[in-house]
Amino acid sequence: MGLFDLTGKVAVVTGGGSGLGQGIAIGLAEAGADIVSISYSSSDETIQAVESLGRKASAIKADLSDETVLESVFNEALGFFGKVDILVNNAGIIRRVAAADHPAQDWHDVISLNLNSVFFLCQLAGRHMIERGSGKIINIASMLTYQGGINVPGYTASKHAVAGITKALANEWASKGIQINAIAPGYMATDNTSAIRADENRSRDILARIPASRWGTPADLKGPAVFLASDASDYMNGHVVCVDGGWMAR
Ligand code: NAD
Repeated sequence: MGLFDLTGKVAVVTGGGSGLGQGIAIGLAEAGADIVSISYSSSDETIQAVESLGRKASAIKADLSDETVLESVFNEALGFFGKVDILVNNAGIIRRVAAADHPAQDWHDVISLNLNSVFFLCQLAGRHMIERGSGKIINIASMLTYQGGINVPGYTASKHAVAGITKALANEWASKGIQINAIAPGYMATDNTSAIRADENRSRDILARIPASRWGTPADLKGPAVFLASDASDYMNGHVVCVDGGWMAR
């Protein structure tokens, strides 16, 4: 199991304070990594969980949709433990308004966080990792990396682009010892999906299509994240792994 061991590694997880990011942060810590969570909301619960595993943890509160703060936030994260071995670009938002009425502000808010911050944080981490000759980057995609969705044009555009960035950077950085891949979660029970889970018809239709017959949980991402953050995936580059209870197979 040494292939999956993350002892001594430092992982930066955006949106690590709750939801899927929290599940990923705890999973990486269980495999041995120390964690920096960068979140808009509190990361206290995650820090507590990571520390109770005997790992170190730090948090930064920041709005990653503000492009002007990204460099200083990344440098602050780097400063905690002196290196970044693993970056997980997980923070993301969704705005559900029909395309014909979709407010420009919603479009820009979603693209700023889900796309712009992902690229610029990849770039900042990539420079550091190129210098060190190694690193792992995991971007969080979506089923809407493959499908169009309903009432979420900005989100769909951003998640298609996450796959594009992941592949583009893999082409440039695979030879430099950096593996960059993505995880496409299926329908997961978090704040992000509370609106569609509250809609009885929508919720029933979604569940009926999931071969695993249940919504995913943050803990379902632990294994795939550890795999993509560890030596076990050293020859994987630019791949998008669906963790979806079989949704895409249907
Ligand atoms: P969530 O709303 O539960 O958590 C989002 C996290 O991102 C929170 O910790 C929040 O503080 C942080 N965040 C939000 N805006 C931020 C900002 N401006 N700056 C910094 N941090 C910010 O959502 P989630 O379901 O855990 O989603 C996590 C990721 O997974 C997102 O990229 C989302 O698109 C993706 N995803 C979720 C699902 C799902 O079904 N829940 C499915 C596919 C993909």
